[in-house]
Amino acid sequence: MAARKFFVGGNWKCNGTGEDVKKIVTVLNEAEVPSEDVVAEVVVSPPFVFLQQVKGLLRLDFAVAAQNCWVRKGGAFTGEISAEMLVNLQVPWVILGHSERRALLGESSDFVADKVAYALTQGLKVIACIGETLEQREAGTTMDVVAAQTKAIAEKISDWTNIVLAYEPVWAIGTGKVATPAQAQEVHDGLRKWLHSNVSPSVAESTRIIYGGSVNGANCKELAAQPDVDGFLVGGASLKPEFVDIIKSAT
Ligand code: PEP
Repeated sequence: MAARKFFVGGNWKCNGTGEDVKKIVTVLNEAEVPSEDVVAEVVVSPPFVFLQQVKGLLRLDFAVAAQNCWVRKGGAFTGEISAEMLVNLQVPWVILGHSERRALLGESSDFVADKVAYALTQGLKVIACIGETLEQREAGTTMDVVAAQTKAIAEKISDWTNIVLAYEPVWAIGTGKVATPAQAQEVHDGLRKWLHSNVSPSVAESTRIIYGGSVNGANCKELAAQPDVDGFLVGGASLKPEFVDIIKSAT
């Protein structure tokens, strides 16, 4: 079986102006990183309104992702963006189930799973986010929580080829408190075992499980060295030049 290609996603969240976008893209375009064929798949996720601009400016070996999409076919859903629209704009990836949407917008695991399933049927590739809160970690329920979030998705899809699973502990997102390499490895290993037992050995072997939560240029190398960490989803640091160092941590 082919090795899992390292994956680095940059989640720009609800940040920036058109001018900022140009600056970030210039840094990425000028970065000397080993080619995608060799090392890492790189996907950046600007806010919807900048997707077209970024797609037009960004180097061709990097791709773009939307940060969300609607759960079903588009229609009378004011303010939403449909999967069909993303496909129409040739946006290949979408982030779904980010903890900010789960927590602030009340997206349940079932709703996220419906979104993942629908987006896949439309031909999008999905970065599906899961992760426990600090309370849940302290209560010792981390594996139960992430397994339940993964199970909700597994029950609604049959093909995992176009999914990247992003383990993002909520307590690590935007807090500067990164998981230790051992903590990340423990959960990634647990998730791979869960996939092995509950989906299939080949899905467990081939699905990329990436880590997100306060990854930066200084801590990425050690995390990337863990056998079950197949890359990163990066928030704050993806808006800075150090994102290039994170991409390079694949080597
Ligand atoms: C994220 O938003 O997915 C994330 C991981 O954020 P940060 O890197 O800023 O913690």
